[in-house]
Amino acid sequence: MATKTCQHFETLETHAEPAGQVCETCIEMGDTWVHLRSCLGCGQVGCCDNSKNRHARKHWEEHGHALIQSIEPGETWQYCFADHVLVT
Ligand SMILES: [Zn+2]
Ligand SMILES: [Zn+2]
Ligand SMILES: [Zn+2]
Repeated sequence: MATKTCQHFETLETHAEPAGQVCETCIEMGDTWVHLRSCLGCGQVGCCDNSKNRHARKHWEEHGHALIQSIEPGETWQYCFADHVLVT
């Protein structure tokens, strides 16, 4: 399998700071999440793919913001949904 490359990180001008420390959409629904991810494009915080609602992934699907970062304590990795590229 060829290694995919990602152009998204190169074209991202500023890394948005996380807008909060909760998944707002889950709270509105009365649901819970497993881990939190933050959109590098706009700072929107959503829940991870292990969470029931996968709001970080939905944010990408709805808004086209492919880049996220983990905002779990001690985690600094970033990920591109479009290219499946993990940057550590
Ligand atoms: Zn990419
Ligand atoms: Zn959520
Ligand atoms: Zn976004």
